Amino acid sequence: MSRQVVVATALGLDPARDRGRLEAAAEALGGRLEERAGHGRLHLDRPLPRERLEAAGRELGLDLNPLPEGFDPRRVALLLSDMDSTLVAAETIDEIADLAGLKPQVAAITEAAMRGELDFAEALRRRVALLRGLEAEALERVWAEGRLPLSPGAEALIAGLRPRGIRSAVVSGGFDYFTARLARLLGLDAHRANRLGMREGRLTGELEGPVVDARAKAAFLEELCDRWGLRPEQVVAVGDGANDLPMLRRAGLAVAWRAKPVLREAAPVRLDRSGLDAILAFIEP
Ligand SMILES: [Mg+2]
Repeated sequence: MSRQVVVATALGLDPARDRGRLEAAAEALGGRLEERAGHGRLHLDRPLPRERLEAAGRELGLDLNPLPEGFDPRRVALLLSDMDSTLVAAETIDEIADLAGLKPQVAAITEAAMRGELDFAEALRRRVALLRGLEAEALERVWAEGRLPLSPGAEALIAGLRPRGIRSAVVSGGFDYFTARLARLLGLDAHRANRLGMREGRLTGELEGPVVDARAKAAFLEELCDRWGLRPEQVVAVGDGANDLPMLRRAGLAVAWRAKPVLREAAPVRLDRSGLDAILAFIEP
C-alpha cells in the first residue's frame, strides 16, 4: 500500500500557535501530524484524491499539497520564477498603462492572454503598441513609486535558497527593465524578459529582439541548465499564468502560485493561501 505525505502551509503559519488547525487537517484526512519549522506534514496511509485535499484546505485556510513522488529535494539546484503576479504582486504592463491613462484597454488584453484565450505574443505586441510615445521616465516611476510590491514570502524564499547554494532566476513575458531591477534587489543569478524599444526618451511601441513567450520561458530554463550543468529535474519552477505552462512542465517541481485555472490544473503543487516561501517546505531534505 503506497503512502502519501501532504505538506500543510499557510501565510504566516506557526506550527506551535496553529497546532489546532494542523491537527484538524490531520484528523480530516486521517493522517499523522509531523510539525516542521514553518509548516506541517501529514503522513497518510494511502493517497487521497486532490479534491479531498483541496476541500479540507479551503475549510481550514491551509494549502494541502502532496509531496510529489519521485522528486528528489536534495538535488534541487535552481529556482526559476515568473515575475508578474508571481514574484511581484502586479502586472507590470498594467502599471505602466495606468500611468499612461490606458489601464482598462491594456488590462483587458492581459487578462485574456493569461487565461490562454489570446496568443501571448500577439497580445503583448498589441499592448506595447498602445504605449507608443510614452516617456521612458514612466518606467522609472513604476519602479520607484512601489507599484510592483514583492509578493508575500518572496524575500524569505530567496534568502532560504542561498544557504543551500540553490541559484535563483526570474523570467518574464514582461520587460527586462524590471527583471533587471528585481534581480538586483533580490540578488537573483539571472533574468530574462522582453526589451521595450526606445527612441529619444520615448517608447517606440515596439519590442526589440525576440518575444519572450511561453516557449522562450521554457527555453530559458534549458539555457540555464546548460550554463550551470544542471538537469531540468533539479529545477523548481513557479508561475501563475498560461504562458508559464511549458516552463513548469520541464521542471522537476512545478508550483502554481495563486494561479489561473489552466496552470493550476497542471501543477502538482498549488499555493493559494501561503507565502512564496512555502516552496521551501517542499525542498527541505
Ligand atoms: Mg505571471
